[in-house]
Amino acid sequence: KFFFFFSHDLKSPFNSIVGLSDIIKTEAKNLVFSTIEQYAGIIHTTSSNTYRLLENLLDWARLQRSQVLFRPVSVILKNLVNDVIEIMLEKANSKMIAVISYIPDNLIVWADEEMLKTIFRNLISNALKFTPGKGKVEIKSTLMPGEIQIAVSDTGIGITKDDIKKLFRIESNVSKRGTQNEQGTGLGLLICKEFVEKHDGRIWIESEPRQGSNFMFTLKIKE
Ligand code: ADP
Repeated sequence: KFFFFFSHDLKSPFNSIVGLSDIIKTEAKNLVFSTIEQYAGIIHTTSSNTYRLLENLLDWARLQRSQVLFRPVSVILKNLVNDVIEIMLEKANSKMIAVISYIPDNLIVWADEEMLKTIFRNLISNALKFTPGKGKVEIKSTLMPGEIQIAVSDTGIGITKDDIKKLFRIESNVSKRGTQNEQGTGLGLLICKEFVEKHDGRIWIESEPRQGSNFMFTLKIKE
């Protein structure tokens, strides 16, 4: 049922990837350079988006089969966040969005590195997707008794109170297109929630339409 649900999302990008790459392969000599560049751009964007969908689908499928091992270690949060930001820079630069991390140098959390990367990847990529050009995405941490509160906030389109209630639930698939019409799956936040809960943490949203969104979650600090 699940793969049937996503079969269109998986198949249709390949129509354009296979079609356009075929044109480039057979017609390159007859095409003007700008057309080749345009086709290559579409192939690149389509395959990057589909790759993200596949990553999410596989994460989700592994989760459902309880094949995801939770292996927490001491993690230097700042380094992990910087690694994730680096992968997102191309997208951020193309929309002229500043991504700023305020995570202090010495903050060590007790977490599964791959899960934590996936959480940040999904939250930062959503923030970039739902923020119009020249906006700002910030990652902050606040020390609380026994835990650390992390916020990924943006200056984007925000979410209505009604939609906030529908998020984090598979049965009410809320998936909107991004400010550049980027397609989504409605899976990213579900995965974030499952991964945060594996860490005994909580995840929630504070948002106002047109004012931006603030995705918050908690993690344990290494004692
Ligand atoms: P996807 O982004 O692939 O649709 P997600 O589960 O990551 O799936 O997000 C579900 C929905 O939540 C999005 O489609 C969007 O409507 C909303 N959303 C998530 N993050 C943000 C954000 N930073 N700003 C505004 N809306 C958001």
